[in-house]
Amino acid sequence: MPKKIDLTEQRFGNLIALHSTGKNKREGSIWLCKCDCGKETTAFAHQLRRGGKKHCSHSCPLTPQRQKAQRHSRHLLYQRWLTIKSRCTNQNTEAFKDYGGRGIQICREWRDDFSKFRDWAESNGWKPGCNLQIDRIDNDGDYEPSNCRFTSSRENSLNTRTQNNNTSGYVGVYKHGKKWQARIGIKTRGIHIGTYLTKEEAVNARNKYITDNNLQHEYKTQTI
Ligand SMILES: [Zn+2]
Repeated sequence: MPKKIDLTEQRFGNLIALHSTGKNKREGSIWLCKCDCGKETTAFAHQLRRGGKKHCSHSCPLTPQRQKAQRHSRHLLYQRWLTIKSRCTNQNTEAFKDYGGRGIQICREWRDDFSKFRDWAESNGWKPGCNLQIDRIDNDGDYEPSNCRFTSSRENSLNTRTQNNNTSGYVGVYKHGKKWQARIGIKTRGIHIGTYLTKEEAVNARNKYITDNNLQHEYKTQTI
């Protein structure tokens, strides 16, 4: 049986030993530890002293693997920001015609400062590794806090998208003057299907577009 050694207040990796909570016949004394991430965990004294346990668990956000993943994820958010900025402002990019070329802008606050965009992202549900997509609520609107949100998947966002000016009660069908427009969002592009005299025609046209293009697995058709 290993001799009991006082580990109180000692640091082992990201763990600080708090107090012994008893002992195991085979493994020796058990210590309650506090991880730098805030969680508590127990560990055998020999594990701690041999460096066999340095975090509360494998899912601790402070493990080197997690930290690396977080850095990577933040980097991806940064890439995302660069892409948004360039498609709205750089006429030499392929995507410009669908964004900047259509008058879609990135708000000044975001454009000039990535940290503002990141702060907004983090207070609107984005977390490292979360795999959320940024979605413009009004497809003709700008990249700005009031018109953007994060959604769990592109498919989901397109199916549930209803716009502020959508008075039809149907996804993808909007009042346009006295007429009705049918639209569908494909891979971040808004496709204008057509303008119709009645809401029914617009809904039907959108349904037809979905079936003609074999998009039933991604978009729901709607009944009137
Ligand atoms: Zn931890």
